[in-house]
Amino acid sequence: MRVDPAIDADFYALEQLLDAEGRQLIMTVRDFMEKSVAPVINHYWTREEFPYDLIPGLAGLGIAGLACAGYDCPGGSSVLDGMIALELARVDPSIATFMGVHGGLAMGSVYLCGSEEQKQRWLPAMARMEKIGAFALTEPDVGSGVAGGLTTTAQRDGDIWVLNGRKKWIGNATFADLIIVWARDVADNQVKGFVVAAGTEGFTPEKMRNKIALRVVQNAEITLDNVRVLEEDRLQQATTFRDTAKVLRLTRAGVAWQATGCARGAYEHALAYAKQREQFGRPIAGFQLVQDLLVRMLSNVTASACLCVRLSQLQDQDEAKDHHSALAKAFCTVRMRETVGWARELLGGNGILLENQVGRFVADAEAIYSYEGTREINTLIVGRAITGLGAFV
Ligand SMILES: Cc1cc2nc3c(=O)[nH]c(=O)nc-3n(C[C@H](O)[C@H](O)[C@H](O)COP(=O)(O)OP(=O)(O)OC[C@H]3O[C@@H](n4cnc5c(N)ncnc54)[C@H](O)[C@@H]3O)c2cc1C
Repeated sequence: MRVDPAIDADFYALEQLLDAEGRQLIMTVRDFMEKSVAPVINHYWTREEFPYDLIPGLAGLGIAGLACAGYDCPGGSSVLDGMIALELARVDPSIATFMGVHGGLAMGSVYLCGSEEQKQRWLPAMARMEKIGAFALTEPDVGSGVAGGLTTTAQRDGDIWVLNGRKKWIGNATFADLIIVWARDVADNQVKGFVVAAGTEGFTPEKMRNKIALRVVQNAEITLDNVRVLEEDRLQQATTFRDTAKVLRLTRAGVAWQATGCARGAYEHALAYAKQREQFGRPIAGFQLVQDLLVRMLSNVTASACLCVRLSQLQDQDEAKDHHSALAKAFCTVRMRETVGWARELLGGNGILLENQVGRFVADAEAIYSYEGTREINTLIVGRAITGLGAFV
């Protein structure tokens, strides 16, 4: 089933905030996602495989690290970057996540925490997607509590750092060229970032299998066994977890956009289905209760998109704080989960068949809901900001 052109799902015409070039880029990305990704993605999703053949096409869109300026990066606005994330997720949340990990988490780490020389060294090839990045923060026993609880260690020995520990859930890590590994410096107990090249001795990624969500994304558990990294490959501007948090502030905003895209994709499929599916001799779109579901979905998508736009505008003004990103991530992912559930409901039994697409959005939403800070953790970040009282422990 082909989804109708989605102009009406941008209900408050937010794309009009973009200039002509930005709107053109949205159309180019939409076209690529609908023509090259949509027809094949269920094949890969079912098999837990990644469509490596699509990487050159994605690279050709020129959207990796979109909001980074200089270093052969596109240098677009955060608003445009967010709308692109929505556009990717609207067709497939796995591809949106792949790009979010590479262009957001990995390139963002180099951009925000690297020295001038490091940015020159790594960003151009990453922007062209000749080198793919991953971001390794989470550990098997430490997820929400990474700020204070990271157990992976980094020990300096002259010009060499030796990393030891384990990581879990690391997207793209089975095939990435550059993996940003966050580890605790045993000398000062602070979290630092290291760029580990694939194939480095002692660095072993193992693909995680049997996920029920984002099955196209290749997540890995990583073992770091005396991995030796040069001092020149330590991100020079990352000296405490506060620097890691700068990256997360940026990418959590991107995840709010992704959640909005995931919800919008499900809504659009549901709307198209409702118009063509007939029961009692008429399209189900003509029933009041079905219209109620559709309008609730559109309300969620529209409210989330408006919130995301304002967040991105604050980012572009350099005024976005951790709590702004956290509120958007928590709100939009809750609305997404509600929306994909309603879309599934609207398709009746057909909603659980992969071929009708909505089921994939329902499953993928579960991962987006939990990664980059769960609802609880993002709520606690906002709670601390508005009360002045931390309630994490
Ligand atoms: C598909 C996928 C992709 C991912 N990709 C990456 C990646 O590329 N790189 C990376 O580093 N990580 C990645 N992650 C990890 C992700 O960021 C973590 O899953 C997330 O931060 C939550 O950690 P956890 O799963 O260990 O849950 P836990 O921290 O164990 O939390 C379990 C539950 O307890 C709740 N909880 C914990 N602490 C509190 C508290 N103080 N108060 C109230 N409730 C609390 C949580 O909200 C949650 O509901 C990915 C995860 C998934 C699922």
